Amino acid sequence: MNATAETSVTATTAPPEDRIPFVEEIKNLLYASKGNPISTCIQCGTCSATCPVASGGFMDNSPRRIIAMIRSGFKEQVLKSNTFWYCASCYQCTVRCPRGIDIAELMYGLKRFTVWRTEHQEGLIGPTFSETFVKMIMRTGRSYEPVLATTYLFTYGLPEMILEAQTATSLMLKGRLPLLPARIKRLENFKRMIRHIIPIGDKE
Ligand code: SF4
Ligand code: SF4
Repeated sequence: MNATAETSVTATTAPPEDRIPFVEEIKNLLYASKGNPISTCIQCGTCSATCPVASGGFMDNSPRRIIAMIRSGFKEQVLKSNTFWYCASCYQCTVRCPRGIDIAELMYGLKRFTVWRTEHQEGLIGPTFSETFVKMIMRTGRSYEPVLATTYLFTYGLPEMILEAQTATSLMLKGRLPLLPARIKRLENFKRMIRHIIPIGDKE
């Protein structure tokens, strides 16, 4: 599929009814961003044209199209899109948008939103990786690579897995990778702080 097909968003499937309009939910997600609201988008397509991932054909909807879908209330289709999970956070779209919209932050916001609501496309590594990361951080306050690696390692072929295991073993032998995850001091304070920043629900 040419993932960046710039076809217009048509109402072939009626957007679902919701108490809060989807575009308002997204606006709330971006409240801390210093960029302009997505309502100021003029659909010029600069973001899509400058995006290395969209032009590489990896995204099922281009950044421009995602914004059009949000504004049209296509919540389900947006949440099931792979666009924000493939975003490389390079910020090219954000710095080049003529309306000053922080599109990269929008991509982060959509990741948080779909993990929180557990409404994401099946088979993507990104949501599992993010959930595992948040749970690990809430348990120990630190990232621990061997646990994170389990979220994507099995998608590799056997030769790559063996290579990864050899690298991990060498790192452990050299003391660069701990055998067990470390735990920070005052973990409860840290957890309280995280809960203030992101709506993680019962992910612990
Ligand atoms: S570059 Fe900015 S104004 Fe143009 S389509 Fe993208 S978000 Fe909209
Ligand atoms: S930040 Fe994401 S959406 Fe924007 S240009 Fe880079 S990869 Fe594309």
